[in-house]
Amino acid sequence: MGIEEQLTTVLAKAVIEADKAESVKELETIRVSYLGKKGEITSVLKGVKDVAPEQRPVIGKKANEVRDELTTLLSHKKERLEKEALERQLEKETIDVTLPGKQVSKGQTHVLTQIMEEIEDLFLGMGYQIIEGNEVESDHYNFERVNLPQNHPARDMQDTFYITPDVLLRTHTSPIQARTLESHDFSKGPLKMISPGKVYRRDTDDATHSHQFHQIEGMVIAENITMADLKGTLELLAKKMFGEDREIRLRPSYFPFTEPSVEVDVSCFKCGGTGCNVCKGTGWIEILGAGMTHPNVLEMSGVDSTKYSGFAFGLGPDRIAMLKYGVDDIRNFYLNDQRFLKQFKRKG
Ligand SMILES: [Zn+2]
Repeated sequence: MGIEEQLTTVLAKAVIEADKAESVKELETIRVSYLGKKGEITSVLKGVKDVAPEQRPVIGKKANEVRDELTTLLSHKKERLEKEALERQLEKETIDVTLPGKQVSKGQTHVLTQIMEEIEDLFLGMGYQIIEGNEVESDHYNFERVNLPQNHPARDMQDTFYITPDVLLRTHTSPIQARTLESHDFSKGPLKMISPGKVYRRDTDDATHSHQFHQIEGMVIAENITMADLKGTLELLAKKMFGEDREIRLRPSYFPFTEPSVEVDVSCFKCGGTGCNVCKGTGWIEILGAGMTHPNVLEMSGVDSTKYSGFAFGLGPDRIAMLKYGVDDIRNFYLNDQRFLKQFKRKG
């Protein structure tokens, strides 16, 4: 058989093998075995040396044609196999949109944040601004500017973390009163603010005390503000936090920064006032302290106390949450136990 015929036979054999190939890998093996340096075409061409010289170009041309044809064929087949493989893969990975999805576990705000946001929403709706203060304060703003000078006996009520003799962790949110009062421009309208945040006291840890807890300070200063405004505001707050049927009562009390000062009780949300374990049989629950801002506090911040007056109140979101949800140990709020925290979903 002449070399040309041999080449034709080799090509025919290669075509059949390529046709049967089922993977790109198989195809590559075929390519090497025919077109490679030690492949069948090369081996057939070794016979060229025995052919008459004038015949050689004809064989060379034929060899090139066979190579080209086989190369084209293999590359088309390769493309087809790759396409098929991709289709099979896509088929396999098809997403069934009718299957139920994986549940993504969704976080929620901490119960104390929920209480504070609820209170913030109420006061924002009444035109108050929210002002946050520093947790590290000076003795000056924490005590002196809220009418608690050095050696004032009431300082003993707030066991304080001192950093230096003049710098401390704020014991209440009240320093924000002085800071806001001294910067407020009363020609632009009354001052209405609440200030939520963390405060610190060296109280021993027990079921009702934590060295860190929260307060929300509220203050309104303008002309002609009276105790009636205070009572109306707190009544709204009590109803918002404990239900529409709640009433409040004011009892005389003492705070250095207000005069007169009151403790505010809300009618028991559990028994409605007849007496139960939550209200310790009294029908009332103490929820916050308040009063008319002391003229000294106004004057120390450069506010004319003969022209302006107002009220302030301070409440503990921790205590409100304990009352509202029947939590008997304040430390639960700070332990980050998901089983405890997950129970509190804000109702909107
Ligand atoms: Zn009760």
